[in-house]
Amino acid sequence: KQSTSRSKKIIEFKDVSFTYPARPDRAVLSKLNLAINAGEFVAIVGPSGGGKSTIAQLLLKFFESDNGSVVVNGVNLADVTPNQIRSFISYVEQDPYIFSTSIRDNLELSGVISDDIVKITALGEVIERLPEGFDSALGARGAQLSGGERQRVAIARALMRGSEILLLDEATSALDQKSEREILSNIRKLLPNKTIISIAHRIASIEHADRIFVVDSGVVVASGKHADLLQQCSVYQKLCSEDKL
Ligand code: ADP
Ligand code: MG
Repeated sequence: KQSTSRSKKIIEFKDVSFTYPARPDRAVLSKLNLAINAGEFVAIVGPSGGGKSTIAQLLLKFFESDNGSVVVNGVNLADVTPNQIRSFISYVEQDPYIFSTSIRDNLELSGVISDDIVKITALGEVIERLPEGFDSALGARGAQLSGGERQRVAIARALMRGSEILLLDEATSALDQKSEREILSNIRKLLPNKTIISIAHRIASIEHADRIFVVDSGVVVASGKHADLLQQCSVYQKLCSEDKL
């Protein structure tokens, strides 16, 4: 059953070109092509400014492509409202908004707190350090948490929405490498049908992805597994050597 669902295309960018309305002189994506299967863990990597976050912005219909099409679960985004698509994708950004109340309140926005999701994000460790655990007030925008702790809460909150797709844009960047890897491998173990898209600049966190797309200057310059890209893609080689500095 799993093999049939995994070969189903869940996201497809076809010849997508895009220019931000605020910068009409500069194309950010130029005929970009990308396809992701249901249940895949894919990573999008590439030099800063290459267009990675823009891919996320189009996927969430914050902006619409100028040319080409973005299809999610068989539906062209041109034909649906932003809310319809956002119920299908849980998005976590680098500096997520945390409400000043408590971890409990932040999570309960998305439903009844799930033990599995607390386990996936190792929230137990975060709660231990707080005077009233789950119910401690977090301060303005979660100021009493570290950046990595805020990211754990945001990922837990996103997972609790139960959407088919989890879209992370540098969403584990404030965590240490070990925690970052653990969260991703926990999601795969406990939520094996989830489609994960991780936009990252740290290669170590996505080395084990099913597929890695290398995006540079608004196009996909290569895609494949870590070992293959390391042999064949100079942009990827450069990213890896920078990552080890
Ligand atoms: P990445 O995530 O790969 O670092 P982005 O997708 O954020 O790259 O940005 C790609 C290009 O688009 C950059 O040159 C950036 O300055 C530009 N850009 C990003 N957001 C906007 C915006 N809202 N308006 C105008 N230009 C933008
Ligand atoms: Mg970005």
